[in-house]
Amino acid sequence: VRGTQTHSGKTRGDGELALLSEIRARAVRGSRHGGLRLGIGDDCALLAPRRGEELAVTTDLSIDGRHFRLDWHQPEAIGHRALARGLSDLAAMGARPVAAFLSLGLPRELTTASGGRGGQRTGSRAWVQRFLDGLLALAEAHQTPLAGGDLAESSLAVADIVLVGVVPRGRALLRSGAQPGELLYVTGALGGAAAGLARLAELAGLDRSNPPRIPKKLEALLAPHLYPQPRIAQGLWLQRRGLASAALDLSDGLSTDLAHLCAESGVAAEVDASALPIHPTATLAQALDGGEDYELLFTAPATARLPRSIAGVAVTKIGRIVKARRGQPAITLITEQAAQPLKARGWEHFS
Ligand SMILES: [Mg+2]
Repeated sequence: VRGTQTHSGKTRGDGELALLSEIRARAVRGSRHGGLRLGIGDDCALLAPRRGEELAVTTDLSIDGRHFRLDWHQPEAIGHRALARGLSDLAAMGARPVAAFLSLGLPRELTTASGGRGGQRTGSRAWVQRFLDGLLALAEAHQTPLAGGDLAESSLAVADIVLVGVVPRGRALLRSGAQPGELLYVTGALGGAAAGLARLAELAGLDRSNPPRIPKKLEALLAPHLYPQPRIAQGLWLQRRGLASAALDLSDGLSTDLAHLCAESGVAAEVDASALPIHPTATLAQALDGGEDYELLFTAPATARLPRSIAGVAVTKIGRIVKARRGQPAITLITEQAAQPLKARGWEHFS
C-alpha cells in the first residue's frame, strides 16, 4: 500500500505516512491513562468517561505570525505552548485531561530533516519532530495521551489542538458563579509571560540565527512566555473542594479576562493594585494587560479558607466582587492614591 485515502480523496505521500506512523509510535507511549480506551490507529478514538462524569472539550488554533513566530520561537516552545493553551482551559474548568488531538498544517520544509526556513537550523531532526518533543513532554507531565489528529501540507504553519477532559457532572468551575461580597484570587504571578515576550523580541532583533538561541542566563526570564505551566493540579484541587464559585484562566490578561468573568456573572470587581502578585521581571501594565500567563483567576466566598499555595503554586487574594451598577465601570483598580476604572486592554498577540 503506497498511501491511504484521506477524506478529501487525495492520496497521502510516503513522507506524510512515515511522519504519521512516527507520531503514532510516539503518542502510544503516553496512552495508558484513564479515560482513553482506543487512541491513534482506527477511524476514531474511543473515550470512556466514568459514570457521573461529563466531558469538557476545548479547541485552540495556533497560527504562525499570530500565536507564534517561526523566526522567534524554537519548535519545542511552539509545541509546548500549543498544548498549554488547551490544558489551561481544562484547568480553568477544574477538569482532568483525558486526551489531546492535534492537527498540523505545515510547509514541507518543516517536515524534513534538512529543512528549515530562512536559514533556520534544526540540526539532524525535522522541525516537526522538535515541535512534538515540546508538545509530548508537556502531555506526559499532565498524563494526557495524544489520541488522534491530522496532517496536511500548508504554506502557513498551523497547529490546531483539541483537548478533552472529564469533570464530575455539575461540578465544573464556570465563569458565571461569582456573587457580590465574594473575594477574588489568582494563582502564581502575573506579567511574566509579557515580560518574557518583550525580551524575546529584543533578542530576535539582535541575533542573526533564526529563531535566536536562548542564552542560559535568559532561560528563567523567558520561561513564563516560552514554557507556561497550565494549572491543572490547582484547578482540580479547587473543583474537588468546591471552594471556587467562578473561575477562568488568564489567557488574554487580567483586565480582559476579569471583565469576561464579571460579564458572565453579572457583577463588578475591585482590584487592589498593591496586592497583585507581579512577576519580578514584569511591570504593573504587563501584570494587568499582558496575556498568556495561564494562571487561574477565581472567586470564593469570604468565609472560604484558602491556603497560601495549592500544589506548590501561590494563591493571592487580589480584590473583591461587588454589585454591578449601571453607569459604573465593571472593574475598578484601587491604588493608594485613587480608585480608577480598569479598562480591558486585550492582548493582541503578534498582530
Ligand atoms: Mg480559557
